[in-house]
Amino acid sequence: MRVVKPLALLSPDAAHLRPLQMAERTRREPIVPVLGRPPRVHLWHIGCQMNDADREDLAEQLADIGFVPEVALEDADLAVLITCAVRQNAEQKVYGKFKELVPWKQRRRGRAIALTGCMGVEHGSALLDRLPELDYVFDVRESDGFMAKLQALYAADLDGAVALPASDRLSAYVPVIGGCNEMCTYCIVPFVRGRESSRTVEQVVEDVRALVSRGVREVTLLGQNVNSYRCPRSGAGLPELMHAVDAVEGLARMRFLTSHPRNASPGLFEAMRDLGTACEQLHLPVQAGDDELLRRMRRVYTVEHYLDIIGRARAAVPDLALTTDIIVGFSGETEAEFLGTEKLMRDVRFDTVHLAAYSVRPGTAAARRPDDVPREEKKRRLNHLLALQREIAQERNAAWVGREVEVLVEGLAEDGRAYGRTRQGKVAHLPAGAAQPGELHRATVQAASAWQLDAVCPRADARRGGTPPRHHSALEYAE
Ligand code: SAM
Ligand code: SF4
Repeated sequence: MRVVKPLALLSPDAAHLRPLQMAERTRREPIVPVLGRPPRVHLWHIGCQMNDADREDLAEQLADIGFVPEVALEDADLAVLITCAVRQNAEQKVYGKFKELVPWKQRRRGRAIALTGCMGVEHGSALLDRLPELDYVFDVRESDGFMAKLQALYAADLDGAVALPASDRLSAYVPVIGGCNEMCTYCIVPFVRGRESSRTVEQVVEDVRALVSRGVREVTLLGQNVNSYRCPRSGAGLPELMHAVDAVEGLARMRFLTSHPRNASPGLFEAMRDLGTACEQLHLPVQAGDDELLRRMRRVYTVEHYLDIIGRARAAVPDLALTTDIIVGFSGETEAEFLGTEKLMRDVRFDTVHLAAYSVRPGTAAARRPDDVPREEKKRRLNHLLALQREIAQERNAAWVGREVEVLVEGLAEDGRAYGRTRQGKVAHLPAGAAQPGELHRATVQAASAWQLDAVCPRADARRGGTPPRHHSALEYAE
């Protein structure tokens, strides 16, 4: 599943964010000894769903050229880090992971480390100077050069494409548009992910068909700005794309992520209402609840406009779950502006809020303004909104008690209970013996917390163990 991903158009603010195809450490000796078997790769990623999708794409590319991807670190010859640069905190986690890899690399001659993703574009080959054990940096949107390099280095050990193990995945991400044209003042994404570029309806439908034939029942159409999707061949927008995907036989559910309020059209809500596979879940990042703050963030809408969109979405789509992203402590955020965000949360009553403290990103327009909300104050504001959202999520989930939900069962927990998600994206547990992975169940909610629902349904037959999904359905937090 290859996505056409254009290189970044750089603003004068971000001249250091140069697109890079691949950089490697220069050395006299080749680093790779002959292994006598296909080389093995450990993949690690952090960040948004785009990075999940990039990881799957890289695994396929590596298997195509004869590498065994997705092995445990200890068994690997090459480690690839797929990184995130959205907040400083994410970068620190990458440096932490890299530190772990250094003794791993030193334990056996010939091991190598590669880095890609948003930090690769942000820092480029300077990372090779900063991290002496790093061997390669490449742009995940332009991975051909890196793949060619690997083929040349490991030529003696490659023996044709390697089959990827059969996957028991029930849901999958399908990138439909790359990049972002918005230029919100705080955000590095447009610099590291480039301008928007959509795939054709036909390419997306072909991917969905292939996934369904491999057992996938739910797809999430993906883009940083997914609702500005425009088919380069037909000009179709996201609603038309959803119609085409909905028609794929065997598909049970479809979601889409992440939408920008600018392009939240009535046609989109009509498609959500009318299409059987379209789930009742809308992620619509608001970022702040004050017009002046939104203006400084360059979000191109007002609070009133946002509330109007939410009103229309809720009127069109019954039982809609609404989720959002909010930043606290943005440059110059006053107490009154912060209270505007609190009020917006109380007024809208989101199902989930991804809360983050503002983190200065070099090269962005906001980096030229002072980062003047003290760290402790950002933390206070963050914790305040977290506590508020916990209450709201508890109440919103409690409103499902006694009602019927549809659960796509994803696995069985150690205690035998089945777990999965409702159409609203909420994690739900079913009693031990009630359901098997891959099944769709109508179930009645009996209890609810801020994090999940407990539901019952008729039928008994449980066997396998597994790990429950992370709870995205109540609230999330990033510092
Ligand atoms: N395109 C989406 C939108 O319009 O909101 C979101 C994509 S962005 C990768 C995911 C989230 O990261 C944003 O919604 C924002 O809340 C958060 N984010 C981006 N830059 C940030 C920064 N400098 N500091 C804190 N959070 C940030
Ligand atoms: Fe970043 Fe704004 Fe684009 Fe979202 S819309 S990726 S927040 S620039």
